[in-house]
Amino acid sequence: MAAQLLLGKPLAEKIKAEVSQEVVDLKAKGVSPSLVAVQVGQNDASRVYTNAQRKVAEATGIKYELQELSADLTQDQLLEHIAGLNNDPNVTGIILQMPLPPQIDPKVVQWSIAYEKDVEGITPTNMGLVTFGKPRLVPCTALGAFELAKSTGVDIYGKEVVVVGHSDIVGKPAALLFLNAFGTVTISHIATGQRGLSEYHVRRAEILVVAVGVPHLIKGDWIKEGAIVIDIGINATKDGKIIGDVETEVAAEKAAWITPVPGGAGTATTAILMKNTIEAAKWQLEKKGSGIITG
Ligand code: NAD
Repeated sequence: MAAQLLLGKPLAEKIKAEVSQEVVDLKAKGVSPSLVAVQVGQNDASRVYTNAQRKVAEATGIKYELQELSADLTQDQLLEHIAGLNNDPNVTGIILQMPLPPQIDPKVVQWSIAYEKDVEGITPTNMGLVTFGKPRLVPCTALGAFELAKSTGVDIYGKEVVVVGHSDIVGKPAALLFLNAFGTVTISHIATGQRGLSEYHVRRAEILVVAVGVPHLIKGDWIKEGAIVIDIGINATKDGKIIGDVETEVAAEKAAWITPVPGGAGTATTAILMKNTIEAAKWQLEKKGSGIITG
């Protein structure tokens, strides 16, 4: 294997150390960062995330609370609950765990979160700030992919960046971050794949970010010599393994840097969530009384 492994753990550790220090600084100013995760109904996969969130929050000094609400809650009741958290000065960050039961439209409720408490960066204001090149609270996995690419020391300016996948939480914000850094960005997606054009775009990529959720969709021999490959996909195989969207072993023969799956971009996600919780607390402190969006 020629490529160097691009591991998420060193980035996660660096961020956690910075967050721990920021928590101390904020507490000295009388602000106690506090994160509330709202879970509607039971979900095993979500429990894995909330356990990880609690562990990292508590390790960095952030107060963490999981609020488990009944699966038969109506959308209006959930909106009312979120409004209560928005107005609670003791809550500085809000996460709405997915999935939600079918009677609830996720976008309606996500968009009701106060933008300065939106630690997942999913409200129109926060996505708008990313679009305008003034990011403040950025979707965690997208930011992790961008920071990992930067950690290789690459100069993104003018590079051919191909993002496969255009979801609101990963593909789109990741593409915007690279665009803000003056990457020449192509976003490909399901329609690109249906036209048989994924290979054409991937072959040009000097930086490739893949967030699809189809095991080994991207063939190893499509990778450009010397490319940086960031594979965000998480796919469970029948024999209980986790594999990515890229054929890692073959791709590693051509790439300069490649993320392993697991252990790559996703590993930094929870640490970035805490970084966003600090950013949110600071934003609320700045905003007190002004009412101005400061991107
Ligand atoms: P999504 O389902 O919302 O979006 C999938 C994207 O892939 C869409 O843009 C779709 O158009 C595109 N796509 C689907 N089939 C395709 C094909 N054949 N060719 C080209 N494009 C195709 O997914 P998401 O929420 O962005 O997640 C993507 C993957 O990343 C999943 O495996 C998910 O588990 C993983 N993920 C990991 C983390 C983490 O590590 N913390 C966080 C979020 C998502």
